[in-house]
Amino acid sequence: MARSFDGALVLFSGGQDSATCLAWALSRFDRVETVGFDYGQRHHVELEVRGTFREALTKQFPEWGERLGDDHMLDASIVGELGATAMTADIAIEMADNGLPNTFVPGRNLLFFTLAGALAYRRGLRVLVGGMCETDYSGYPDCRDDTLKAQQVALSLGLDRRVTIETPLMWLDKAETFALARDLGGEPLLDLIIENTHTCYLGDRSTRHDWGYGCGGCPACQLRSAGWQKFKAEAA
Ligand code: ZN
Repeated sequence: MARSFDGALVLFSGGQDSATCLAWALSRFDRVETVGFDYGQRHHVELEVRGTFREALTKQFPEWGERLGDDHMLDASIVGELGATAMTADIAIEMADNGLPNTFVPGRNLLFFTLAGALAYRRGLRVLVGGMCETDYSGYPDCRDDTLKAQQVALSLGLDRRVTIETPLMWLDKAETFALARDLGGEPLLDLIIENTHTCYLGDRSTRHDWGYGCGGCPACQLRSAGWQKFKAEAA
């Protein structure tokens, strides 16, 4: 019998955005698997919180746990071999001449979606879900809607199978991403995201803020912190 292609593969890094996307996918698809990429990121700790988050999610939301399938970890260390960036090497984070922060890893999401597309093909999953967003972001061109729409077409043609890339956070700011998590799973999901996801570029988990763990100063921490303050102000 032919396999049905009705499941989703979530690009799950262990950060706030992809964790929210995982909950979003679990509320919509009967079968959901996750994939993570090890590319030598400085915030390697985000890969360690992935398992903890999946476990806690399964425990607290049993109906989602039943739909949550395998987790896949792929080695994407070739990204680091192509050249150093502040995301993969101990370099100060600053703006480069091209207007992008030097945390930009050229081709990263293009490669990730290609690998995810190949994995989804093997696993019989039709939908790829990613937490990219061009509302409250660092300007990375491979997070933009046009890039991902084009990649959806390229993957569908190259695999000769319809692939859909879903980006539920594309037009949400960070405060709205917190609100989406609350709408999907209430306070328990918000608490899980605060406690068990990781965003800080520097991999700092020594300080617990009301919005989660992080150095508090890097661009990722600043976005998450500002988003949380705005979300709380709007919820009040
Ligand atoms: Zn930080």
